[in-house]
Amino acid sequence: MQHFSIWSLLRNSMSYHEGWERQWRSPEPKREYDAVVIGAAGHGLATAYYMAKEHGMRNIAVVERGWLGGGNTARNTTIVRSNYLWDESTALYEKAMVLWEGLSQDLNYNVMFSQRGVMNLGHTLQDMRDLERRVNANRLNGVDAEVVTPEQIKEMIPFINLNTRYPVLGASLQRRAGVARHDAVAWGYARAADALGVDIIQNCEVQDYLWSGDRIVGVKTNRGDIGAGKVGLAAAGSTTLLTQKAHLQVPIENYMLQAYVTEAIKPVVNHVVVWSAAYFYVSQSDKGGLVYGGHLDKHSSWAQRGNLGNVVEVQQDLVSAIPFTSRLRLRRHWGGLNDMTPDSSPFICQTSVPGLYLNAGWCYGGFKATPGSGWAMAHTVAQDRPHALNAAFSLDRFHTGHLIDEHGAAAVAH
Ligand SMILES: Cc1cc2nc3c(=O)[nH]c(=O)nc-3n(C[C@H](O)[C@H](O)[C@H](O)COP(=O)(O)OP(=O)(O)OC[C@H]3O[C@@H](n4cnc5c(N)ncnc54)[C@H](O)[C@@H]3O)c2cc1C
Repeated sequence: MQHFSIWSLLRNSMSYHEGWERQWRSPEPKREYDAVVIGAAGHGLATAYYMAKEHGMRNIAVVERGWLGGGNTARNTTIVRSNYLWDESTALYEKAMVLWEGLSQDLNYNVMFSQRGVMNLGHTLQDMRDLERRVNANRLNGVDAEVVTPEQIKEMIPFINLNTRYPVLGASLQRRAGVARHDAVAWGYARAADALGVDIIQNCEVQDYLWSGDRIVGVKTNRGDIGAGKVGLAAAGSTTLLTQKAHLQVPIENYMLQAYVTEAIKPVVNHVVVWSAAYFYVSQSDKGGLVYGGHLDKHSSWAQRGNLGNVVEVQQDLVSAIPFTSRLRLRRHWGGLNDMTPDSSPFICQTSVPGLYLNAGWCYGGFKATPGSGWAMAHTVAQDRPHALNAAFSLDRFHTGHLIDEHGAAAVAH
């Protein structure tokens, strides 16, 4: 693999940048792999990378029905934080955070991880109690968190309107949190996994499974049958289509979430800011556009087109929060299918179907988990048992009642 550095940049500039190699191969699928991962996006690619890197597995393929990173990985608003309430979540997302902090170096690919801080605003006394409870829980778990006053918020974001229809009484702030470049995460993992021998096969849709008795032993695809000792499923919004074919019931329903970006302006929002009451949030991209979004659609669906009610609601929230934005043009908006679970927590687990492993249920918060999720999923697939980090994120919790109810915990979105 060609190493990226200031020296390789200089060297290639001498030859008009015509000497760069392709970032990953486009191999034909082999007949048989030790493991096949379905879904070449953040979670699937990270899983394959850590299976190869940490567990020495080399005969692995990641199959993708479209193009690499075309799912929610490239549709999300890239908030990365680890300030979850419950211990199980904190451990998993903090593992991800630590991996994020060294990811560009590890992958030798700039994922543009920017630790600019994520602020969750409180609008009522109850919001403030919830935020304080969360900050205390985070600190007990060794995660950085603090409560900031309206004056401190105004100092950090001078343009903010604190006296909107949701008056701001304070906020929680995780300074190590921030954003990353979504495509770069998929590309960085793809390049690094490919360098370790992982076959990434695009335009290869899994249509069914190959069985030997009650065991899954491969996948049927539009490019032929591919045998696999193990099959990992990381298909986000398409999860239930594929679990259905495995006769496995999972508590996941799809809801669409939209996001928006304005034309580029000078830096005005230097943090990620979340208005808890409205579920509205905004950050500013490195190109200058304000990137923002609101709540899910109110009904379950498979649509990936925006619905107008949400467009209107979110623009109102933006203008009410930062009034001068009424003069900005909306440049683009788009939607993605979120695999929602009843307790807002994911699954990284073995399943009751031998040979099938599940990584799903990330709701609207899976981007931030990508490195930790892939790391834990790789352990689970390679070792045939969960790591302590993901033991609680099993399908069993809906039988045992040990739910990890992050949604019920407090109004902190994304
Ligand atoms: C608008 C929006 C904003 C969001 N904002 C944030 C945020 O700020 N922070 C955050 O942490 N999270 C956020 N999320 C959630 C986050 O994007 C997802 O949880 C995460 O990207 C899921 O990653 P993934 O790798 O599991 O899935 P995806 O990126 O969706 O990848 C799944 C892949 O599986 C492939 N696939 C599906 N079916 C098949 C098949 N049959 N055969 C082969 N391949 C198949 C798909 O083509 C796709 O490439 C947001 C989501 C949306 C929609």
